[in-house]
Amino acid sequence: VLIQERPMVARADGGAFDPVVIRRQFPVFERNPGLVFLDTAASAQKPAAVIDGLAEYYRTDYANVHRGVYGLSARSTARFEAARERVARFLNAADASEIVFVRGATEGINLVAQAWGLAFLKPGDQVLVSELEHHSNIVPWQMLRDRLGIELVVAPIDAGGGLDLEAFAHLLTPRTKLVAMTHVANVTGGLVPVERVVDLAHACGAKVLLDGCQAVPRLPVDVRALDCDFYVFSGHKCYGPTGIGVLYAKRAVLDAMPPWQGGGDMIRTVTFAKTTYQDAPQRFEAGTPDIAGAIGLGLALDFMDGLGMAAIRDHEAALTDHARDALLAVPGVTLIGADGPGLGVVSFQVDGIHPHDLATIFDRHDVAIRAGHHCAQPLMDRLGVVATARASFGVYSDEDDVAALVAAVRAAQRLFG
Ligand code: PLP
Repeated sequence: VLIQERPMVARADGGAFDPVVIRRQFPVFERNPGLVFLDTAASAQKPAAVIDGLAEYYRTDYANVHRGVYGLSARSTARFEAARERVARFLNAADASEIVFVRGATEGINLVAQAWGLAFLKPGDQVLVSELEHHSNIVPWQMLRDRLGIELVVAPIDAGGGLDLEAFAHLLTPRTKLVAMTHVANVTGGLVPVERVVDLAHACGAKVLLDGCQAVPRLPVDVRALDCDFYVFSGHKCYGPTGIGVLYAKRAVLDAMPPWQGGGDMIRTVTFAKTTYQDAPQRFEAGTPDIAGAIGLGLALDFMDGLGMAAIRDHEAALTDHARDALLAVPGVTLIGADGPGLGVVSFQVDGIHPHDLATIFDRHDVAIRAGHHCAQPLMDRLGVVATARASFGVYSDEDDVAALVAAVRAAQRLFG
């Protein structure tokens, strides 16, 4: 009944956005009938197009890239570089040379901290983050602070759990050299007003790094329109393989950055006396890259574009609103940081039941959620909680999943009396 009643969202190709149909493209649901998967923010499931495409590449075109003169290596190189072009198109970057392949968002942020940060920051300079950040956008800056004597400044959230834009603006000073901030918060799903953040930071002369881990799978991202200096995301959260991610940086910024890891592929000439380096992006890709991962990521972006990023955003927003309403209607349930617009993620608590116990009971109902600090311990401290239960959605999620979630909450409440 719920499936028939669900309003369908228009899709890029004119078809309807139907999670039930989309789910058929994900073999995991065929192998695990009954699975209610609500942990896409941790990692998304993979469509057959990505799984099969990876196998097809290994069967047909696999060889190491960039070094071989033989046909197979040339084909492999062409596919790897085509994936870079695909990412550039997806983000609307000005050029594929602005796309550096990394292992994931974590590595992308560490690359910026160590290559850009070590070269351009000096003691007393400030890096400004927010209370919403994932550990991967906190710890690399702390490590740099301890090494360089820079300061880490933290912009607070407001009472509703969103970035306090006014407080953020007040914290910007000529000493702020970098603002590093999430685009969509991984604990609350909160949408950060990154356009305003970029404008305010640039007006102060600071560069901006945006962590797009939870945004790229959920809304159209245009790095040129955003005008951010760096943008990072992980392939595995947007229906692609693990082990691959992207650092976008403006060409002029990348050109000015020294390499961070040394090895094969990133060099032009090597003697024991001196080494010269490749241009970006190769300068930042030492060693054999995750070739198949990059190709798989390209296929995942094709998959998402096929559905239409605007349609995905509308779907995630509608489902998030629906889940917030449905959970709030259950006595004893509190939403965490859910006052503003949210996308794809809902954090909550149930009176008298620890989030870990909730997740364990949910598992008995085949409802997979995440419980814990979600790699955001400072945010937990700020919110005054030790953990939350977190349900997160993907293109295959629908109101039936939310109904199963609510039923699982009620079952847990009955169990705890
Ligand atoms: N940033 C955010 C907002 C995230 O949600 C995550 C993953 O949960 C990360 C960064 C780290 O991503 P990865 O572990 O793929 O490097």
